[in-house]
Formats: sequence, C-alpha cells, structure tokens
Amino acid sequence: MKLNELILLSASSGESAYHHRVSGVARCPREAAMHANGIDRSNPSDPIHGNQFRFDIGHDVEARVISAMEDAGLGVGFNQLRVVARTPGGLEIPGHIDGIVLLPEEVDRGGKWYLFDVKSAGTRSYQRMFWRGQPPKPKQAHLEQVSVYANAFVDDDNHPDIRGVRLRDLEFDGMPCGGGLILYLCVDSTARGSGDSREYLPRLTECHFDLDDVDVDTVLSGFDDVERHRLDGTIPPKPEPTDDRLWPNFNRKTRKYKPVRCSPRWCERFSICQEI
Ligand code: SF4
Repeated sequence: MKLNELILLSASSGESAYHHRVSGVARCPREAAMHANGIDRSNPSDPIHGNQFRFDIGHDVEARVISAMEDAGLGVGFNQLRVVARTPGGLEIPGHIDGIVLLPEEVDRGGKWYLFDVKSAGTRSYQRMFWRGQPPKPKQAHLEQVSVYANAFVDDDNHPDIRGVRLRDLEFDGMPCGGGLILYLCVDSTARGSGDSREYLPRLTECHFDLDDVDVDTVLSGFDDVERHRLDGTIPPKPEPTDDRLWPNFNRKTRKYKPVRCSPRWCERFSICQEI
C-alpha cells in the first residue's frame, strides 16, 4: 500500500445512524430519507478523495477566522452554542452555531450584532460568488442554515440564563440583531483571470443578509417530510434537476441543468437511487 493511501484510509470515516440536524438542511431529501430508513450506502466515498480531511479543514478555518475576529477587537461569542429549531410538524432539530459578533458603530452595518457562520471555499466556488461586478452572492443553502439557527431556541447547558429564548430576539448592551452574516474564506488561490487582466479577490468575503429573506418554515418542513418517509418506510422521488440541493449546473450546449450531486462522487446512495 502507498503511504498516501494508508494515511487517507485512516482519515476516512464510516457513516453513523441518521439524525435530524440543522446542518442537514441542504441534503437531497431522497438520499436523506434512504439514510433515515437505514438503507446502507451503495457508493461510500472513496478514501482517495479525502472528504474527511476537507471537512476538518472547514473546522480549522472556522477556528482561525474566529481567532482573527477576536484579535481585531470584535466582540465574538457563543461559539458552538446549542440551539433547537422546531419544524411545522413539531420535530425538534438540534444544531450548533458558529457564533455571534457585535459590530461596533465604525464598522459597516455596525451598532448591531450578527449571527455568523464561517464557510471555507475552493477557488471555483469562491470565484462563482463574484459574478460580473455584482455584490458577492452567498449560497442559498448557507442562507437557509443560518436563518434556521436565528429562528431556533437556545438549548445549551452552559447558558441556562437564556435557555428557551429565540436566538434572534437576544440583545447585547441594547444592540439588536442586525441579521445573518456568512464569512467565506478561500482556501485555494484567489487569483482570477490571467495575464494583464489577472486580479486577486480578497481572501475573506462577508455576505450580510436579512433573516426574513428565507421562509424558515418551508425549509424546516423538509425534516417533517424525511420523518414521514422514515415512519412509512418510503423514499421520495428524485427532486427536479434545478433543485438547489442537487447543485444544478447549467450546460450551455444542451441548455439543460445537470445535477452535479447526482454522481457516485458526491452521492453515497447514487446506485440505489438510479437503480443501477
Ligand atoms: S443520485 Fe441525486 S437524486 Fe438520487 S439520492 Fe443521490 S443526490 Fe438524491
């Protein structure tokens, strides 16, 4: 066995039993229902892809960005605070936030606190956020995740004083919640273009958004659907190829959307789903 294979193999992990989690809001509902029904993976990820390493890098990035925020003198807190979101069907979905940050008046949109989430991004997905001079566009799944956290209730043994309070209703020194904030850190090259037109994007990009831009009940009802399929022992049909949860990619030649996630590389139950 090659050394790299040995290391990658030890860094890869198996799959644990299905649990509803806020971080799963963007999962394919068909794949999630199969998992919830205890159907084993037909296409477990190949250790050579190092998915677990990539996942862990995301955690490292979160810790480093938070540390830099503190060094910058920002009030940061509640890292990994446990919250519970309630679905329209009455399920309780646990999650952990990256944290909240108090922005001082002199910073853009200052005088308020924001619920933030740190995301690491590769070059391609980072560049896609900067489209034709438009303001950077966060992924819909990230907006949904943070909005669900904001509307969830604190349920953390380390903070009994605010247990049961809806996160977005908290105030700090009279500061109200200003909304959601996603901080994207590019972990690869930030260069865009070539030759004389080459430019370098900022390593870190902030995306503020209004928490009311997302219909949280609709997002959370996805967990009710998965739960219903679990109880009935059924799985839902494939979502439309344009469904964000399948990472649709528009093919200019065919003029159709191709769901990137529907491949053995990205879907661990691809063969079962496609009946191959
Ligand atoms: S192949 Fe696509 S539609 Fe099927 S379970 Fe996987 S992600 Fe979902």
